[in-house]
Amino acid sequence: MSVLQAVRGTRDLLPPETALWNHIDATARRVFERYSFGEIRTPILEETQLFARGVGEETDIVSKEMYTFTPEPGQSLTMRPENTAGVVRAYIEHQLGETGQLQKLYYIGPQFRRERPQKGRYRQFFQIGAEVIGPPSAGSESPLRDAEVLEMLATLLSELGISGWKLLLNSVGSATDRPRYVQTLRAALEPVVSSMCEDCQRRAVTNPLRVLDCKHAEDQPIIAKLPRIWDSLDEGSKEHFATVCAALDACGVPYEHDHRLVRGLDYYTRTTFEFVSGDLGAQNALLGGGRYDGLSEALGGPRAPGIGFAIGEDRLVLSLQARNKQASQLAAAYIAPLGDRMNPAALVLARELRALGLRVELGDGSFRLKKSFETGNKLAYSIVILGEDEAASGILTVKHFASAEQFKVSRAELGQKLSALLNSNN
Ligand code: AMP
Repeated sequence: MSVLQAVRGTRDLLPPETALWNHIDATARRVFERYSFGEIRTPILEETQLFARGVGEETDIVSKEMYTFTPEPGQSLTMRPENTAGVVRAYIEHQLGETGQLQKLYYIGPQFRRERPQKGRYRQFFQIGAEVIGPPSAGSESPLRDAEVLEMLATLLSELGISGWKLLLNSVGSATDRPRYVQTLRAALEPVVSSMCEDCQRRAVTNPLRVLDCKHAEDQPIIAKLPRIWDSLDEGSKEHFATVCAALDACGVPYEHDHRLVRGLDYYTRTTFEFVSGDLGAQNALLGGGRYDGLSEALGGPRAPGIGFAIGEDRLVLSLQARNKQASQLAAAYIAPLGDRMNPAALVLARELRALGLRVELGDGSFRLKKSFETGNKLAYSIVILGEDEAASGILTVKHFASAEQFKVSRAELGQKLSALLNSNN
C-alpha cells in the first residue's frame, strides 16, 4: 500500500518549529494590541463572488490560483486566497461602519492559493494581517493612518528581531487616476510588447499594470522606459503620498519610492507598499499591503476607505531561521527521581515548579543516574536530583549543564534559582 503524504504545497508544522510560530503570533498580538487593534476571525470558506469582485477577475489569484468547488448546484465556494475581502465583507455584514469609529482589525490564519510550490511559496500558507477601515468622517482616508500602519510594521519587525528589511512605497492613485494610467500604459506597450516575454504579452492585454512586476532580465530595459504611474496621479494623490512620506521621515522609518510597485490585486488605491528582506532569495516579499478606498463599495457596502497589509508568516519563520533565532526549546529543569519509588514525589515537585511557570521535563526513576544526566542534558538547562535523602531533607542537588556548576538548594528556593539560571542562558 502506498504511504499517504501531505498534499503538495501543504506542510505539517512540527515542534520545535511550532514554538517559533507561536512566538511570532504572540509578538504580533502584543504589538497590535498596543495600537488598539482587535482580532477578527472570518471563515476560510467564502462565496467565490467575494474574491471575483473584491480581488478582481483578471488577477492571477482569481483567474488561476483559487481552490473553488461547487458543493451543490448553483453554489460556488472558495477557500480564501487572502483575508482582506473577507474582513471587508464582515465589516459590511455587521454594519461596523454604523459605529462611526475606525475599525482596527487584525487576523492570523491560513490562506490557500494554487501556486507552483517552492521555498517560501506554498499552497496553504499563513498570513498575519491587519486592516484600518471606517467611514471617511472617522478619518479613514487620512495619510496619517497609512504612516501609523507602516510605523507599526517597522516596530513589529524590530521586536521580532528582523533587521535589514527595505520598505518599498508607491502610490497607484485614486480610482480615476488608475484607469488613466492603464490607458497610457497600454498605448506605450503597444509598439514594444511583441519583443517582451509571453507573460507580458498576455498581461498587456488582460492587466497591463502587472507588466511592471515582470522579473525577466531581457524585459527590464523596456520596462524602465515605460511611463510612470506618478505622472498620471492627480494633485490629491500626490499630496496624500507626500504626507505619508513626511510622517515616516518624522518618525525615522526609512523607505524607498518604488515607481513599479503596483501590486497584483485590483482593489488598491493610493498607497501601496511591500517590505522585502535579503534573507529570502527569490520570494523576497515579507509582506505587502496598501490602501483600498473603493473596496467596500465594490462589494456593495457603504463608502469605507481603508488600509491594510498581510505578512507572510511562513516567510517570517524562514527569515528568523536564517538568523538562527529559534525560540529556545530547553526546559528550565529535568527532574531525575532516583529509583521508581521516587516517581510520585518527582511528579509533585514538577507540579510545584510548573505552577511557578517554569517549563519542566520529568524523568523516570527506572533510569540509572548516568542515563538521567544524558537525557537531562538534551532536554533542559539544569538537572534536579530527587532521591530519598533529598525528599526527606528538602535540600535538592542541582547541576547546571552549561556552567557545569553543581550546588544544593532548599526546595523553597529552587524555583527562583532555576529562573535565574534560565535568564543567564537567554
Ligand atoms: P499578497 O496577499 O499576495 O499581497 O501577499 C502578502 C504576503 O503573503 C506576501 O508578501 C508573502 O509574504 C505572503 N505570501 C503570498 N503568497 C504566498 C504563498 N503562496 N506562500 C507563502 N507566502 C505567501
